[in-house]
Amino acid sequence: MAGYDAIIIGAGMSGLYQLIKLRELGFQARVFEAGTGVGGTWYWNRYPGCRFDSESYSYGYSFDKELLAEWHWTEHFAPQPETERYLNRVADKYDLRRDIQFSARVKACDWDAVAERWTVTLESGEQASARFLITAIGALSAPTLPNFPGMDSFRGQSFHTGLWPKQPVDFAGKRVAVIGTGASGVQTIQEVAKTAKELVVFQRTPNWCAPLHNGKIPAEEMAEIRKEYDAIFKRCEETFSCFLHTADPRNTFDVAETERRAFLEKLYRERGFGIWVGNFKDMLTDRAANTYVSDFIAEKIRGRVKDPQVAEMLIPRDHGFGTRRVPLETFYYEVYNQPNVRLVNSRATPIERITPEGLATSAEHFAFDIIVYATGFDALRGAFDRIAFTGVGGQPLKDAWAEGATSLVGMMQPGFPNMFMLLGPHTALGNIPRSIEFNVEWVSETLRHMRDQGLRVADAKAEAMETWMTHVMDLARGLLSMEVDSWMTGINRNVAGKQTRIVARYTGSAPEYRAWANRIAETGYADLAMR
Ligand code: NAP
Repeated sequence: MAGYDAIIIGAGMSGLYQLIKLRELGFQARVFEAGTGVGGTWYWNRYPGCRFDSESYSYGYSFDKELLAEWHWTEHFAPQPETERYLNRVADKYDLRRDIQFSARVKACDWDAVAERWTVTLESGEQASARFLITAIGALSAPTLPNFPGMDSFRGQSFHTGLWPKQPVDFAGKRVAVIGTGASGVQTIQEVAKTAKELVVFQRTPNWCAPLHNGKIPAEEMAEIRKEYDAIFKRCEETFSCFLHTADPRNTFDVAETERRAFLEKLYRERGFGIWVGNFKDMLTDRAANTYVSDFIAEKIRGRVKDPQVAEMLIPRDHGFGTRRVPLETFYYEVYNQPNVRLVNSRATPIERITPEGLATSAEHFAFDIIVYATGFDALRGAFDRIAFTGVGGQPLKDAWAEGATSLVGMMQPGFPNMFMLLGPHTALGNIPRSIEFNVEWVSETLRHMRDQGLRVADAKAEAMETWMTHVMDLARGLLSMEVDSWMTGINRNVAGKQTRIVARYTGSAPEYRAWANRIAETGYADLAMR
């Protein structure tokens, strides 16, 4: 069995940076990646219109000044092919592929208490061992399909947005169904509507969407942005969720009506997440404030969708603005003014089965050439549940997490020594690359400390985990988002056991999260048992 200092699972944004840092430390590392190329999210999600909602220049790695000086983001919100190219460029520049094994899906990881090493088993049966195991398996990387009867019988083409084929899919002249209206569905719908002969959108729950206001970045503007990189990354370090936007310090009703309205109008005209994370500071905790903003967005929807009945169908009734992830859109609502697009309320008339020709709801049968499942992911812990991890005494991680996932700062779990999770449950998410860089650097510093002190094993202490989890639970109290079903509250109706709302993510600020993790290092790793 091949042996390494460290095994990293996943060659997405976190796995690639972790490999670079391990090499700097002189560690021999191996990356196992299920795909045939690097990129993770940007490798698998190739659906039409896929892009991030973070400003491109706040999204790339901040550690490589040379690359920052060279790379030209062509749009304020770069499309998937560009981000995939960017990550391939990083892999080329650092010659990362020589340590990455592709088409290598990890099936099991077992802690060997005698050897004090991890044994990693691939689906192919191949095994490797390492002192350290680092999961870089993503927070939204385990795609889930509905459980409709007859799904295998469909004679046309069907795709999940998160498992999109490499060869382009041509929608021109086709009859297309899109099931799901989260961030992936919204981006797909607005793109497919351009060429499909007929597009039927099956919406179970409408989401509050807001304009992205994307635009090209000409060379001169990119040159100006490059000069601002230090300030951009400093800002991301200071804001609540690492975006360029952060909450307005005022409460909604402390501001006079005319000014309040003008502020929302301004946010609605601005690029990116300002309307969500840059809104009045009480919008996500105060019901009346949230209703005020929701009413504002509802008026915008009514103003953009011509058919009043369709407009009402697109306005959420069961949750307020921003209490679920806000999909950013580009003429999404206007799509429903097109004669080739129809919206179906699949709560009123649920999809009952997939047929060879299309699908049947409780009200009618539809014929399709293509069905797109934009049905989301088994989020946060889902990617962990798909690998059989066993820790000290052969305890499965699933058992340790039977009452809900736990961790110490999202990165370690007691009883799973020398295992580090880069985007584990209860890590700060937000503008994800910023969180990734922090976590990779925290893990790398921990490994450096162990090496310098001649330590072989590190395990999180149970009491440290409990203190951290109490903090996580306390933070979630009073948030309106905790009253709503979404992946952010651990709900996935397509997965058994994920029907009850839980505190599934870290809801505090990224600076607060980082302070907690840094305190662990500053106190000489008192929260970890090391030997
Ligand atoms: P999602 O937000 O979980 O949306 C899944 C959609 O599928 C929902 O509309 C859901 O309806 C529907 N659905 C699932 N099962 C269904 C069923 N059996 N019958 C009918 N409808 C069903 O997933 P996502 O859109 O892939 O997004 C997940 C997250 O990934 C986002 O919140 C975001 O964080 C990230 N993402 C980001 C971007 C970006 O940066 N622009 C793009 C895509 C994704 P219900 O709501 O009723 O369950």
